[in-house]
Amino acid sequence: MVTGASTGLGAAMSLGLAEAGADIVLVDHRERTAVADQIRDLGRKALSLHGDLSKLETINQFVEETLTHFGKVDILVNNAGIIRRTPAIDFSETDWDAVMDLNSKAVFFLSQAVARDMLKRGYGKIVNIASLLSFSGGITVPSYAASKGAVAQTTKALANEWAQHGICVNAIAPGYMVTDNTQALRENPERNQAITARIPANRWGNPEDMKGAVVFLASPASDYVNGHLLTVDGGWMAR
Ligand code: NAD
Repeated sequence: MVTGASTGLGAAMSLGLAEAGADIVLVDHRERTAVADQIRDLGRKALSLHGDLSKLETINQFVEETLTHFGKVDILVNNAGIIRRTPAIDFSETDWDAVMDLNSKAVFFLSQAVARDMLKRGYGKIVNIASLLSFSGGITVPSYAASKGAVAQTTKALANEWAQHGICVNAIAPGYMVTDNTQALRENPERNQAITARIPANRWGNPEDMKGAVVFLASPASDYVNGHLLTVDGGWMAR
């Protein structure tokens, strides 16, 4: 089950997991069939579920539909996320709540709903999509930084409780990747240049750069990896 699977990193990770042999439940509030079609072309099954993940009732409904269709969830990738850019002094409650509800609250409650099934079977892989702003505060994105800090801590908190029951909970912290989420940054010549200058790989990441990390954390190769934040950032954090 991959959330925010219609575009960007979620679409690429869904395809990477399907290439590695997984059937995929694509969760998104936008209806797009392209990724599901590509997964079927790879010979895997795809189920598309549409709705707003920031609503608890939708989360529970998604898990019920998935269990009805596939009988179990082996892998959950909590990827759906949004960002709102406004200086802190003018930041609205609406923007604060929208970002926290999806990026942070939905990660916890979808993990909880899926883990009820995983705990019964003593097996599961949960991969949360964090950010470099799980480590630092960013500029004019206060609710995003707060929400991604929460993703990092939720990852560790859940790993501490569930590792002993066979559920690995880890996170990937992507660097600066070319998706809709970063369009405004890439269109700002000064920010774009400053960001690229700090990346040792000397380029922004592509969604496909996420495939190897997510397949690793979703597979038995990572069975003794728990509560870890894996940066996929072209070396940004090493600088
Ligand atoms: P994106 O905007 O391209 O994709 C986000 C997806 O989430 C979209 O398919 C969108 O329809 C879906 N979505 C949004 N709100 C939703 C809701 N309420 N319910 C269900 N689905 C919803 O963004 P992206 O860059 O691919 O980001 C994916 C994740 O990676 C996010 O959590 C983001 O914070 C994180 N991230 C991205 C970058 C980057 O540089 N792009 C860096 C670090 C972390």
